Amino acid sequence: MTALAKKMNVYQTKCGTCRYNSGTLNDRHEIQMPTQLLNGKAIADSILQQIRQNVANQTAAGHRLPCLAVILVGDDPASHVYVRNKEKGCETAGFRSISHKLPADTSEADVLALIDSLNKDPEVDGILVQSPQPKHINPNKIIEAIDPKKDVDGFHPYNVGRLATRQPLLRSCTPRGVITLLEHTGIKIMGLDAVVIGASNIVGRPMALELLLKGATVTVCHSRSREVESHVKRADIVVVAIGKPKFIPGSWIKEGAIVIDVGINRGEDGKLCGDVDFESAKEKTSWITPVPGGVGPMTIATLLQNTYDAYLKHIA
Ligand code: NAD
Repeated sequence: MTALAKKMNVYQTKCGTCRYNSGTLNDRHEIQMPTQLLNGKAIADSILQQIRQNVANQTAAGHRLPCLAVILVGDDPASHVYVRNKEKGCETAGFRSISHKLPADTSEADVLALIDSLNKDPEVDGILVQSPQPKHINPNKIIEAIDPKKDVDGFHPYNVGRLATRQPLLRSCTPRGVITLLEHTGIKIMGLDAVVIGASNIVGRPMALELLLKGATVTVCHSRSREVESHVKRADIVVVAIGKPKFIPGSWIKEGAIVIDVGINRGEDGKLCGDVDFESAKEKTSWITPVPGGVGPMTIATLLQNTYDAYLKHIA
């Protein structure tokens, strides 16, 4: 068994002693496990069904429904699609959802007043303000106005601070969803070399904190980093969130690595694609997420998980 395979619990064994039959033998008579697809859509669906069952149990016990309130300011078409998907997620999970769709010229003060009223509403468990917001609205002010106990996006500095100090409460949805995906591989993250490409507040930074919490050795690369390729080449886990179609080629990926592609881009052929060149990368990986159908559905499922977690505290 190679050192990496041992470290990552990848099944490789000598011909004749092998109990596994889904791999192929290479010329060293080792079993090569084919890359496995991390099917975020299927995992997200099962999370939503589990939440739905939990909600049914709570209402049978006499409790109210969980409720997610979404605020959308302006006409950004992609944001409308995201909000619609969140509303659909609420329906699937059996939640009540409230959507406030406001015109683009709504003042910052009016948005803050709406947040204040939702903070005070005892029947609202989660509040989310869809980004991007129009230029005249300061996104940091908006995030900080949300009660941290209802901050189901996990963006409030209080919640980020809790994660940074190893006492997580509400955690940023995409990174928490990525951890759920990694847990599905059955591979222990502790001690592995993880490289996160992208350092945004909503994905890259909290992703690094999540991996650190799991005991990985974490490197974060961003647009000013030198030699991103060399960092990727030694990574057991690569999480990419930069927003550049097929930026990471398969030739950069270490044999047996796990690749999580957060990016959602429109490729030259007009189709959705990630930040990783899936076709060449999958020849090297042990596990890889597809785009679409990988991280995207997990983000929504995790939002509902966060809302359910907040609800449990509110009804306690
Ligand atoms: P962002 O633009 O806020 O941040 C991008 C980050 O990538 C920055 O830190 C930047 O420094 C870094 N970067 C840019 N070019 C780079 C390069 N050449 N090398 C290394 N780093 C580089 O983006 P974001 O909001 O973090 O989103 C990133 C991507 O993830 C986008 O495609 C977005 O659509 C997608 N996304 C997907 C989900 C999901 O649920 N699947 C959720 C959030 C974001």
